[in-house]
Amino acid sequence: MQCDNISQNFENSDEVITLELPVSFQTDDKSTVNYQCDVCAYSSRFYGNLKRHYLIHTGQRPYACNFCGKSFNQKVTLTTHIRLHTGERPYSCEKCPLRFYNRASLVRHLYKHAK
Ligand SMILES: [Zn+2]
Ligand SMILES: [Zn+2]
Ligand SMILES: [Zn+2]
Repeated sequence: MQCDNISQNFENSDEVITLELPVSFQTDDKSTVNYQCDVCAYSSRFYGNLKRHYLIHTGQRPYACNFCGKSFNQKVTLTTHIRLHTGERPYSCEKCPLRFYNRASLVRHLYKHAK
């Protein structure tokens, strides 16, 4: 009797695990589930990563600017863009008083000091 109970418990927990996986993304080997992009060779173990990657193909831009309505496919790009409106410049140069709204501009500026 006890054995029956144990095996039934296992069946139940198995069922829960299978239900959490979207069927179309399931591979034959359950231990190495990978989310595969159906457009290119990209694959990831995390569904969130694949979803974000897929925006490249769909051209979807879910992050819209509240100031001008321009939209972006990545949150970090929108955050940087909004600084153009707010004038926020969180990246400051260590060698002079200049400040920059994105890291790329600061790095480019630092090359000038290096010369
Ligand atoms: Zn892809
Ligand atoms: Zn804007
Ligand atoms: Zn500087």
